Amino acid sequence: MIEFKNASKTFRLGKREVNAVKGVSLAIEQGEIFGIIGFSGAGKSTLLRLVNLLEQPTSGAIQIQGVDLATLPKKELRKLRRKIGMIFQNFNLFSSRTVAGNVAYPLKLAGIPKKEINERVSELLSFVGLTDKANDYPEQLSGGQKQRVGIARALATSPDILICDEATSALDPDTTSDILRLLKKVNHELGITVLLITHEMHVIQSICDRVAVMEEGEVIEVGSVFDTFTNPKHPTTKRFIKSVE
Ligand code: ATP
Ligand code: MG
Repeated sequence: MIEFKNASKTFRLGKREVNAVKGVSLAIEQGEIFGIIGFSGAGKSTLLRLVNLLEQPTSGAIQIQGVDLATLPKKELRKLRRKIGMIFQNFNLFSSRTVAGNVAYPLKLAGIPKKEINERVSELLSFVGLTDKANDYPEQLSGGQKQRVGIARALATSPDILICDEATSALDPDTTSDILRLLKKVNHELGITVLLITHEMHVIQSICDRVAVMEEGEVIEVGSVFDTFTNPKHPTTKRFIKSVE
């Protein structure tokens, strides 16, 4: 379980303060596909960056399986970070490395022996359906194929959690559906908890179990996707739902 306990994040830019996340309390169960929606600047990316430790909370705490991240020694933090994969809107692949090289990268960092890396990379490329592209470079791939490489690379170190920040926003509808099917497979077959930020309501409807709505750093509504879409409570949620009707 991932638990936010009254978590806040304030950025200080000179004299100006930005309260990106304000007092968020939220529990996400292992194995859930959990969506986060909200207008630009609502704090969605910052909230998820608190989970993979790219940001430290200014106050409050984040716990994963009951362990407070702030109490972990450096070595344990590094270990934990490997258990959290992340994919992005712009894929963030290394253009100078082949598909196989991109997927192998986190395994090299983790000091895995070469033979094991090669086996694991083949396994991962087969899982995402890119076996025949192993020696291609990212620029030779379509957007959907690039995101498959991103997913294979994120899965390399066998994470428990996969964070997807607008991972389908740059893709056309058919390719988006393919990637969503793959994310479902990641969740069902590997039991990985998926945390997903999107501005596409149909993405939430098609794969998420629950959804949280953020506004100005706060979670203003959280519930099952069915309840939220059939009976939205907050005016901002209603606006979001309207946008897809
Ligand atoms: P978008 O949908 O545009 O990606 P978001 O909901 O992901 O938006 P965040 O990126 O979390 O929003 O940003 C929340 C607020 O925090 C914004 O006002 C943003 O400018 C600010 N912010 C985010 N990161 C930083 C940073 N590193 N330094 C200063 N301010 C930041
Ligand atoms: Mg964002």
